[in-house]
Amino acid sequence: MKKYSRKNRQLTLMVALGSGFFVLALIFFIFFSFLLVNKSLSANQLNKLFVTGNSTKSQNEDQISQYNIPDDVRQAIDQAVKTGQPASGIRADGQTFHLPILIYHYVEHVRDRKDTIRMSLDILPETFEKQIKTLQDSGYTFINMSDVADILDNIKPAPPKPVVLTFDDGYEDFYFDVLPILKKYNVKAVAYIVSGFIDRPNYMTSAELTSVAQSGLVEIGAHTAHHLGLASLNENSAKIEINTSKIQLEQKLGVPITAFAYPYGSFNLSTIALVKEAGFRTAASTVAGTTIGNQDRFFAFRIHPGISVGEGLLKELAKQ
Ligand SMILES: [Zn+2]
Repeated sequence: MKKYSRKNRQLTLMVALGSGFFVLALIFFIFFSFLLVNKSLSANQLNKLFVTGNSTKSQNEDQISQYNIPDDVRQAIDQAVKTGQPASGIRADGQTFHLPILIYHYVEHVRDRKDTIRMSLDILPETFEKQIKTLQDSGYTFINMSDVADILDNIKPAPPKPVVLTFDDGYEDFYFDVLPILKKYNVKAVAYIVSGFIDRPNYMTSAELTSVAQSGLVEIGAHTAHHLGLASLNENSAKIEINTSKIQLEQKLGVPITAFAYPYGSFNLSTIALVKEAGFRTAASTVAGTTIGNQDRFFAFRIHPGISVGEGLLKELAKQ
């Protein structure tokens, strides 16, 4: 009887220990799942700022935009400001003015609701139209990047309340959803095209791109030949990516291409030099900001308008 109850106690102890472990394991499981879910959430939020070359391509999906000014570039600016002389090709002379440059990717009704990257980068054409109306009604002047270069080079003065609309990558929705709205409101914009992606599925065809360029409203800019992060390429490959996109677009469209945008906003001092050497007059980055001057014309700051319209949008644009 004594023996039996000892055995029973042992059994109870084992059951207690077992459930204890089970509960602990459960707590750990819940805790780690929470961490994982959290991690993927923040990755998803970052996706909103992704600059993807092709939504179906995984090579672009893990590359996140560069939001900071690299140290070598910062040092060159400081030196140029201090000495009043260009440093490593960076100038700090001339005026700096308030200029919100808005960055867009997809403007469309996404057909594949499971394409989460595309969904997160997308704004509806109706929202885009509301944004244009908001800006037009509050006296903004839509200019392109050639205008910006002319203003920085003192060829012409800045208009009242200038704003630039930029569209990266050359997706087909630009032709179908954006261009009609630009025409309706008679506003200028800039489309940065990946020259090697023209005529691919999801991207504008040569004929569509030609029609966009001939609209008189859209300045075509270059966005490399294959949408590669330039700061991670060697100098020679970066040079080929930059120069090829300019040459291919100029040959196709018969107009000078002087505006450039870095894929993933990826740049450094060496890529700035290459972009200048190639004959571009400006280059757009993904560093956030609403001013432009000579010191940053080759990594022009841009802001994401997201889905904000009305007062919310105006507030974003007015930020210094
Ligand atoms: Zn891009």
